[in-house]
Amino acid sequence: MENIELKRFWEKVKEELISSLPESVHHWIYTLEVSGYDKGVLTVVTGQSIALQWLKKNYNAQITEILKRITKEENARLNIIYDINAAKKLKKEAEKMHRKEAEAQQKEQAIENLSYMQSASNLNLKYKFENFVVGKENKFGYEAALSVAKNPNGKYNPLFIYGKAGLGKTHLMQAIGHYTIFNNPKLKVKYTKTDDYINDYISICRKSNDAIENMSKFYKKYNNVDIILIDDIQVIESKQRTMERMQHTFDTLYNKGKQIVITSDRVPKEIPKLTEALCSRFEMGLMVELTPPDFETRLAIVKKLASDSGINAEKSSLKYIAKHFSNNVRELEGAFTKVCAYAEMTENDITLELAKSVLKCKETEDVISFDKIADITADYFNVDTESIKGSARTAKVSNARQVAIYLCRELTNQSYECIAEFFNKKHTTIMYSYDQIKKNLGVNKENSAAIREIKQALKVN
Ligand code: ADP
Ligand code: MG
Repeated sequence: MENIELKRFWEKVKEELISSLPESVHHWIYTLEVSGYDKGVLTVVTGQSIALQWLKKNYNAQITEILKRITKEENARLNIIYDINAAKKLKKEAEKMHRKEAEAQQKEQAIENLSYMQSASNLNLKYKFENFVVGKENKFGYEAALSVAKNPNGKYNPLFIYGKAGLGKTHLMQAIGHYTIFNNPKLKVKYTKTDDYINDYISICRKSNDAIENMSKFYKKYNNVDIILIDDIQVIESKQRTMERMQHTFDTLYNKGKQIVITSDRVPKEIPKLTEALCSRFEMGLMVELTPPDFETRLAIVKKLASDSGINAEKSSLKYIAKHFSNNVRELEGAFTKVCAYAEMTENDITLELAKSVLKCKETEDVISFDKIADITADYFNVDTESIKGSARTAKVSNARQVAIYLCRELTNQSYECIAEFFNKKHTTIMYSYDQIKKNLGVNKENSAAIREIKQALKVN
């Protein structure tokens, strides 16, 4: 019998077998492969020895009957042989199928995880690492966040990201969430605004009927995850009982080696009435600060906004926007959107003139440099600038140095690390100096007057 003919013949036999034999054996029949036919004897191969035994033992007569009918041969029969290669092939196919199923399951889990995160927390799909423009002010924060995303139970626990409003804290935090969902979908991620955490806790405490069940729901939501992202922790201030709960959440997760990421608009020590216990927990991992982006980064951000939305804008108009919105990326984006909207409504191109007429920014003063602050402060206290930047510890120089540090932080928005570099000190020393001056401003009249006058000399108030 020719090959094609043989195959057709087998299809016909197979059809008959399927329609006559019970469903429980159909899957074996489907895996049989025809190999030859000679005078009523049809040979098929199987990779499953159990199929061979089962079919022979239980259905031999029925099968033979069918073959006799089709072939009209007196001694027709089905010769089933077990073949190791067919077995291997079957095994491979089964493995491939399992892999595919596992992949599909992973994808499903990722989608479930993603929609869970989105519905539970309004996760913004824009807040991914690839949409974050990296400059020298946020490089450290970006790298810390990425490292945590890649290795969520590693050495940075908790990761505490702080900085003023609109500098990308929520963006980086959610980027960790997105990264995990797509690359590590088995991990459960929970993003929560601290406000929601507080409200959840308060409403559970109010529902006094079945407090235990309510509390267990609360635990499930916050204590039963692999990565928790807690946004804007500073709003927890003075909520004593919520702080206790938060400490419990923190300890449960921390002790299980789960990742905790927190953002705040200030360092833990500056959060009013934060318990000592929480404060020390927040400080025990890695703290990174985001500071306002410099001109180059701001320009890169608006350029990216334009190219991502396919908008053609004159370069000078983008430079104008980047120059005038220096303290807050949210406002920078807002300015760009405003200019685009205006251009679209009036059907104009985005030019420098258009940007100027829409935004009407005041020409900004030159930025104040650390050098200028150090010089004028040294002058005021009658010490020399070099000693301020050096290691002299006389009371006069130390005080002048602390005032200069305070002013650098207040007037330039630069990070403690940058200021530390300028003064050749550790950044913890800089933080301490800043805190000392700030804390004593009300009582130390001399320093208050000094700061007022130095600001005047710097032409800022
Ligand atoms: P924060 O949480 O610090 O107040 P957000 O993370 O909400 O700030 O950021 C404010 C806006 O600025 C968001 O739309 C965010 O995408 C954008 N943004 C902030 N920093 C960057 C950056 N480096 N690159 C791109 N977009 C940024
Ligand atoms: Mg935020």
